[in-house]
Amino acid sequence: MPPTRRPIIGGNWKMNTNRASARALAAAVAGGLASSRGSNAPEVVLFPPFPYLLDAAEAIANSPVLLGAQDVSQFDNGAYTGEVSVAMLQDCGCRYVLAGHSERRHVIGEPDEVVNAKARAALDRGMCCILCVGETLEQRRAGQTDEVNRRQVTAGLQGVPADHLSRLVIAYEPVWAIGTGVTATPADAQDAHAKIRAVIADLYSPDAAAAIRIQYGGSVKGSNAADLLAQPDIDGALVGGASLDAADFLRIVQAAAPTT
Ligand code: PEP
Repeated sequence: MPPTRRPIIGGNWKMNTNRASARALAAAVAGGLASSRGSNAPEVVLFPPFPYLLDAAEAIANSPVLLGAQDVSQFDNGAYTGEVSVAMLQDCGCRYVLAGHSERRHVIGEPDEVVNAKARAALDRGMCCILCVGETLEQRRAGQTDEVNRRQVTAGLQGVPADHLSRLVIAYEPVWAIGTGVTATPADAQDAHAKIRAVIADLYSPDAAAAIRIQYGGSVKGSNAADLLAQPDIDGALVGGASLDAADFLRIVQAAAPTT
């Protein structure tokens, strides 16, 4: 990975933890990072459930750990029961949001248009956004991986201007690898990342493609992170299950630390 692309490790806690364990987990990650930070150390972002954002924010205060939200409303404010706006998230100290996580696409049923509206809402108001893309097992078996990634990246970035891309990260998360314990091989993940980077070159420019960060997600653990993160187009990891264990999550962060 070129030194210009700072590694980024995200911890997506999904609908897990309670108030006390969320606080403790955030504090353990923050405490584990404090002693080992170089200038190009990985960016670390935690995505707790909405009700625990403020607790997590307090627990990571005065640490390099950043706060993110697992979802965001495409709307600014008003009669949208249950929705949480960009401004509300910013008010809670969030810097990042996820858009298009596979559980929102495939369990909740969010189409590309909604993913795009959420990404734009966040980016337009100065937040950073992780746009998640990836194929299902059926799509992979049908040889549609590259086509699905191209479609989801293209649709997700519809109307996003080039000068917002510095706040955009793409997460390639093959759906069959999420929460299953099955990880893409480093070679397969590298191939998908390189092709996604080529999509950015087509949509924007070769410079934009070289600069954009692309994380891998799908059953990343301390034990397999180093091989994945050693690939030239893999710029970090979005971690679900293993992010609930501070020690394992910190091992992944350590694996992303540049060695030079
Ligand atoms: C995720 O939630 O984005 C994810 C990759 O989960 P897991 O690491 O558990 O596969």
